Amino acid sequence: MRLLLTWIGFALLLPAAGAANSVVWHPKARTFDMNVRAMGLEQLLGVIKAETGWEVLVEPGLKGRVGVKFREKPAADAMRLLLGDKRFSLVPRTKGGTRLMVYESNRRGATQQVAAAMLAYEEAEPLGQGRDDGRLLTLKVKVHHLKSSYASINADSKLTNIRPLLAGVNEMWQSTNIRFVADRPLPMRAADRDAEKAFAGLFKPGVSATAVAQLQSRILHKMLPDLPDRGKVFHIVVIYTMPRAYGAVYLPAKGMVLMPQVKFAALVDANGVWKDGSPVFFAQSNILAHEMGHSLSLPHVATQGNLMIDGKLREGGGVGPGDRLTAKQIIAARRQAFSGGPYVPGLNPKPIKPK
Ligand SMILES: [Zn+2]
Repeated sequence: MRLLLTWIGFALLLPAAGAANSVVWHPKARTFDMNVRAMGLEQLLGVIKAETGWEVLVEPGLKGRVGVKFREKPAADAMRLLLGDKRFSLVPRTKGGTRLMVYESNRRGATQQVAAAMLAYEEAEPLGQGRDDGRLLTLKVKVHHLKSSYASINADSKLTNIRPLLAGVNEMWQSTNIRFVADRPLPMRAADRDAEKAFAGLFKPGVSATAVAQLQSRILHKMLPDLPDRGKVFHIVVIYTMPRAYGAVYLPAKGMVLMPQVKFAALVDANGVWKDGSPVFFAQSNILAHEMGHSLSLPHVATQGNLMIDGKLREGGGVGPGDRLTAKQIIAARRQAFSGGPYVPGLNPKPIKPK
């Protein structure tokens, strides 16, 4: 098997020693930023699958090593750079997601599904030092999926790769030079049996919207655990559904964004392929981007088109909140991001001790 090395730009763009490999996908622009030093072809294709949610098929036995570094390359150009002399076809589909096929001579040879592979999260340098020079702030996100005997709570563990959604979130947060990087999804158990039962009870017929509004928050705060790294790391908890078609919500006391899986489950098929061009996909990443805004201490605003618009004030038939942030919001979000963790009242930022 021939060794594949894509040398374009590699020698002069060698990253600093110890710098992590990174594959960043921008789903709206359909471009990639990549900084990959020397990775096996199949692993890199697995990473691309995990980040994009594409279907990736490869010819069995096709091997190679890839080293590339580039920014904002349209998807097909990016594939050409990293695949070198391998052939490929990249087909967006109206139903289902994008399909990438990689082969030696004939596309019919690309029969093997590539499994999603995730780059392990690597600790970036501490954030809290010095003044804000506008540099890229990489924030660690732990993703959890709730395990429960109640169907309304129990998330399907096969649908927990939310990296494509997070790619959409990061694209909206690009103007702030803040990037959320997810760790591997982990199962989570409810902290309280009674609260679990009470939450499931909110779905019973006859429970009014008012009752849900009054009870839900209290139940969730009892049901979800107080994690030891609360306020130090961002947490996204995937729950199966929420009553009354609630979208995602940030729970400041827990330092968690709660994300109902049912809202995006229809976008993902059994092979983990995302309908990456669907308006629902962008709506869901927009909603998650809004909640991440709350986690970065941003309150609601009344400005149409702003990412943090109060859902009740939003006009028009658009699918999500806006995606704009003001200069003031960017400063506030970066100030919070510098702590490395989400806004948790009384915990992060630390309360100032009276003199
Ligand atoms: Zn909100």
